[in-house]
Amino acid sequence: MTNPTEPLLVATDLHKAYGPTPALAGVDLTIRAGEVVAVMGPSGSGKSTLLHCLAGIVPYDSGEVRYRDRPLSELSDGERSALRRSDFGFVFQFGQLVPELTCLENVALALRLGGERRRTAETRASRWLERLEVADIAGKRPGEISGGQGQRVAVARSLVTEPRVLFADEPTGALDSLNGERVMRLLTEAAHDTGAAVVLVTHEPRVAAYSDREIVVRDGKSRDTERVS
Ligand code: ADP
Repeated sequence: MTNPTEPLLVATDLHKAYGPTPALAGVDLTIRAGEVVAVMGPSGSGKSTLLHCLAGIVPYDSGEVRYRDRPLSELSDGERSALRRSDFGFVFQFGQLVPELTCLENVALALRLGGERRRTAETRASRWLERLEVADIAGKRPGEISGGQGQRVAVARSLVTEPRVLFADEPTGALDSLNGERVMRLLTEAAHDTGAAVVLVTHEPRVAAYSDREIVVRDGKSRDTERVS
């Protein structure tokens, strides 16, 4: 069990440039266990780059990201991939479900890749589909369901492995507001129940309203804002 006040992910003076284009120019932030943090800012401000650096997907140029006190820069590529599989979950703007598999199989796949047996994986996957209110489409393929349903399946797939950190990059960006809010409500409720921290990249204040705290990124620099309400 994770201590709720334990800093899970800490970024210090993070810098990253793509050739001559600076993307991060000194970001500091701390994500604690169980909190939902919205990373806000206009398009091109460095939000996705920050998420990718925090998740160990993209290497940074200077500064440091520590996950549970371990600097990501000291891990090998293999160790970083293993960490992403064991401790991190991901939801993107478009669910990126495997089109040939049913919704149930898509969610179960996340567990099967970790070595879980098929029956156990499908039983757990089916519970998560229920939790995300998409049990009725378990046997359908991604091409046969709506965008909102697909995102709820993607959230189920990201949480079924019980990650400590869920990274969500514009998870409702392709949805209308009603479906977007349903996805956000279910995502944040499920994350709170499991104790996962959520790093939520969005440029929509309505989506950020589901977070406990906001970090605003502007020109690659960060500013922390406690939610007042
Ligand atoms: P946001 O997510 O806030 O829209 P990004 O992190 O995607 O911002 O981009 C920050 C800056 O880095 C932008 O100027 C963008 O054009 C640039 N950038 C992002 N990814 C790449 C890349 N793979 N190659 C070159 N430039 C990139």
